Amino acid sequence: MRRRAKPILGVDIDNVLAQSDACLRAMFQELYGITLEEQQMTRYDYMTYGVTEEQLVQVFRVFNVRKCRTLKVVPGAKAALVRLARRYEICLVTSRNPESKAGTEYWLHAKGLPYDQLHFNDDKHTLGIPYHAFIEDRHEHAHRLAETGTTVYLLTRPWNAAPLAHPNVRRVHSWGEILDHLL
Ligand SMILES: [Mg+2]
Repeated sequence: MRRRAKPILGVDIDNVLAQSDACLRAMFQELYGITLEEQQMTRYDYMTYGVTEEQLVQVFRVFNVRKCRTLKVVPGAKAALVRLARRYEICLVTSRNPESKAGTEYWLHAKGLPYDQLHFNDDKHTLGIPYHAFIEDRHEHAHRLAETGTTVYLLTRPWNAAPLAHPNVRRVHSWGEILDHLL
């Protein structure tokens, strides 16, 4: 049997590695004339801000098959992930629809982002993966993971400004700060 050599680091993709929110807001503007500013996004739920369900479905369909190939990388993420991959098994876990699998893999390779596993699952805390730690931007995902005993580094975004409610969730403001904790 192969011995697991490295601890597993769980890493989210959207708004942790990829600047997805900026792309999605630009799509709502371009397709529907809906202007959304990042700072107003105190909930990560576009329908709160006037997007209809039909518009949301349409935008995500285009995002999943096409736009996700074009995203900018979050500043500092690539250099940090390259360093972390030497010490950890990188396990990417995304809430994206599996229809984005080809586009997501294309983007990860195109951007040179190293990883060992890639999972498409919104229930990140139920996969039975023994994460050493997890890097996330969604407040609710962070807390569900924290309840399973995982240490979660919550990368500050306007939509996760609510007070932290579990001792396993630690707020960080940059990838540099994440490296300070994990290297
Ligand atoms: Mg995310």
